[in-house]
Amino acid sequence: MHNIEAAAELLDGVGIARPEIESAVRKLLEAFGEDVGRQGLEKTPERVARMYDELLAGYRVNPHEMVNEALFDVAYDEMVIVRDIEFYSLCEHHLLPFIGSAHVAYTPSGQVIGLSKIPRIVDLFARRLQVQERMTRQIAEFIEAAVHPYGVGVVVEGLHLCAMMRGVKKANARMVTSAMCGSFQENAATRQEFLALIGRGSSPSLF
Ligand SMILES: [Zn+2]
Repeated sequence: MHNIEAAAELLDGVGIARPEIESAVRKLLEAFGEDVGRQGLEKTPERVARMYDELLAGYRVNPHEMVNEALFDVAYDEMVIVRDIEFYSLCEHHLLPFIGSAHVAYTPSGQVIGLSKIPRIVDLFARRLQVQERMTRQIAEFIEAAVHPYGVGVVVEGLHLCAMMRGVKKANARMVTSAMCGSFQENAATRQEFLALIGRGSSPSLF
């Protein structure tokens, strides 16, 4: 995939409809058996709508603006790694958070991307309704499409509140996913270098 719009799956025109969210939250509170008029809940629909606007902002980030003026021609072809990027996302199955850290690496082939952009790319995909596997893949594909490197590796470690809070499958609450493209997929030594540098070299069985 070499098209950043496709990689970013921009949902053009899908702005968040705050009034609809507010009325849906009011209905949800009623269905819980709550008194939507009581003091603590009075402004809850409005607050929740504002919150989703922020938590789901990733659908409306322009990918060109994201990488615009952040690509630099550099004769450097060693691995670039950004570790421990915090992310906050929402599981699309339960609308509950999954949170954790992402580790992103690529081997440039003529161009590098400004370091501050990598956490913003993670954010772009985290601030959507997600499943962790797809988010991991989207981050890798977006970097591949934007930077055209020799390869990209992404490892995401997430804690899923839908599993933790419900207590039924606590063992599955912590999840590790990875996506490897290009040289990271084809070359075991490159992949191992990446995993070692993010402190995962000793547990290749996770992948
Ligand atoms: Zn879930």
